[in-house]
Amino acid sequence: STNQKVAVVTGGNRGLGFEASRQLAKQGYKVILTSRDEDKGKAAAQKLQAEGLDVIAYTLDVTSDESSQNLAKFIDQQFGKLDALVNNAGIYIDDQSGSKGIIDTHIDTLQTTIDTNVYGVVRVTQALIPLMKKQNYGRIVNVSSGMGQLTDMEGGSPGYRISKTALNAVTRIFASELIGSNILVNSVCPGWVKTDMGGANAPLTPEQGVDTIVWLATLKDDGVTGGFFRDRQPIAW
Ligand code: NDP
Repeated sequence: STNQKVAVVTGGNRGLGFEASRQLAKQGYKVILTSRDEDKGKAAAQKLQAEGLDVIAYTLDVTSDESSQNLAKFIDQQFGKLDALVNNAGIYIDDQSGSKGIIDTHIDTLQTTIDTNVYGVVRVTQALIPLMKKQNYGRIVNVSSGMGQLTDMEGGSPGYRISKTALNAVTRIFASELIGSNILVNSVCPGWVKTDMGGANAPLTPEQGVDTIVWLATLKDDGVTGGFFRDRQPIAW
């Protein structure tokens, strides 16, 4: 229908992004499942289409300005608006860098992680916010992590931790600039979830992991903004 809500999910080809795409489509959203690899995105979208869901694939590398602008143009031409953005794409490469902690980590590892997990979110959000402002409605969900909490900075992984702490700050700053509008911006810790990143020992299924993500993406007009959530409850960062 013409009033159908439109959602973008980044990193939608697998893991939490794939499941968030499925759950939003199940709620009646037209979902633009984005992926940096075109073939993987198409295959993922086809899987959800085969379940009867309204999902289309679009190629988006969150580290590319051009790619982000192309997505914005595509959505503007096709739908003229955007209702929900799930900034889910993320990387965790500290372990591959061979370092144990910030004392011996490579600056490259930090830079690459922050490029994707922080600047990637800022870039895509900047590109797509005009499509929300046009209709004064939008829900932006930044997928962060409990590993970004300042109260828990032990155990290495400096690149990932720094990136997620910064992402929570980015979330708060976007939210504060949008106060007074109906564009709500929040971040979420999905919990420890069985995905390629989370590994096989994680206790949560992707479906459980996306519950708070989808809840924040579909908040009512009196919903919260500028918060960090786990299990639908605000948590400190
Ligand atoms: P996965 O590693 O399974 O998936 C990550 C997704 O991000 C993939 O689709 C990947 O694409 C995509 N991606 C990476 N870099 C880019 C890029 N530059 N442009 C576009 N897409 C990109 O991870 P999860 O599903 O587990 O994680 C999703 C989010 O949840 C992440 O932000 C993660 O930090 C967060 N999270 C996960 C937890 C867990 O336990 N799983 C816990 C806490 C937070 P490709 O397939 O091409 O690599």
